[in-house]
Amino acid sequence: MEEEYLEEQGQKLLKRLEREGILPSPYNFVNFKAPKLDNYIVHDSTLREGEQTPGVIFSLENKLEIAKKLDEVGIQQIEAGFPAASEKQRNCIKSILNMNLDAQLSAFARAKKEDIDAVADVGADGIVVSLSISPYHRKHKFGGMTQETYLERLEEMVSYAESYGLFVIYSAEDTTRENDLEFLKKAYKTAEDAGADRARVVDTLGCTGPNGMAFLVKEIGSVVDIPIEVHCHNDLGLALANSLAAIDAGASTVSTSVNGIGERAGITVTEELIPALHIIYGTSPFEMSQLNSLSKLVEELSGVKMPPHKPITGENVTVHSSGIHQHGVLINPQTYEFYPPRLVGQKRRVYIDELSGRHGIMYVAEKELKIGISEDTAKKVLEKIKAAYSSGARRSSYTPDEVKEMIAETEKR
Ligand code: ZN
Repeated sequence: MEEEYLEEQGQKLLKRLEREGILPSPYNFVNFKAPKLDNYIVHDSTLREGEQTPGVIFSLENKLEIAKKLDEVGIQQIEAGFPAASEKQRNCIKSILNMNLDAQLSAFARAKKEDIDAVADVGADGIVVSLSISPYHRKHKFGGMTQETYLERLEEMVSYAESYGLFVIYSAEDTTRENDLEFLKKAYKTAEDAGADRARVVDTLGCTGPNGMAFLVKEIGSVVDIPIEVHCHNDLGLALANSLAAIDAGASTVSTSVNGIGERAGITVTEELIPALHIIYGTSPFEMSQLNSLSKLVEELSGVKMPPHKPITGENVTVHSSGIHQHGVLINPQTYEFYPPRLVGQKRRVYIDELSGRHGIMYVAEKELKIGISEDTAKKVLEKIKAAYSSGARRSSYTPDEVKEMIAETEKR
């Protein structure tokens, strides 16, 4: 075996991925242990956190469409909104419930009776009971709430939510800045004893790194038996890394949003987490080929444009642009692709521009235009293209149709 630094489970996963056309770094699987769970739970919050993106307001129709698509992807849980906030929020959640999706629906509540009542009224399956825990929030938001008062309120509100028969997720907002670890553990234990079904660790400000996140998940996991969810903001660009570190440390559930939309820098990206789970842990309960269209749907409905180099679903991530890469891909796509673009619903494309070579022209002719051309024609077309860039007449890539025209012109002579 070449990868002799891998143990049996790592070898097995690597082989399985290879059969699917996925060729990641084998070093991912050093000391690999098959995950405890076959299916990590994705708790998608596009309809709650996503709507907190500045300027994003989804209509009822938008929300139904997004919920339906999330369900098609196989997302197990959807955080559908904040019922106490408005009549519209309540109507949207009720309408989504009426769709009878496979996904379970939860809704957001502050740790207040009226918020919890509103969630129970709409008929959601689950509730996120949010109570900020950090000293900054207890001091400034709650007028100096003591630890004792916090625990009393938490106990009372989790029990209250539990009495409705809801699946209760205790969400300790700003968990990662509560510097009293013993108090933090006591809070999660109190929530569990009061009937919480899941403990959510929240990096509200995205101010934590993988090391801190893994530590917290382990510490909290050492005092509670209920599963742990993480909600990671992306202010340092670490939301996905933190979510995976949390999974390594024993978390079962990740709170996400499509395209990562949310407050400020947003949160862990649904359609980026899912392939990472598949490629790094080998879990695959999701319809990954729907991920590209999921991202595009939310881009359109939210109006939040994604950059072309966005991982997994960006316009550029399955494009080959330089001549060296195009040549490689033409011989075998494995040279510059470690997974087939169709895995996530994308398509391989070759862009013809200043850095392209004749192999790129031949690729476009054969694969995109379905016409055979000689190397000589490809060379002549390329010369014209290079001349257009050199003179400054052209600054954008050539589309396949433009290449087609140039081939026709060249062959006429
Ligand atoms: Zn958030």
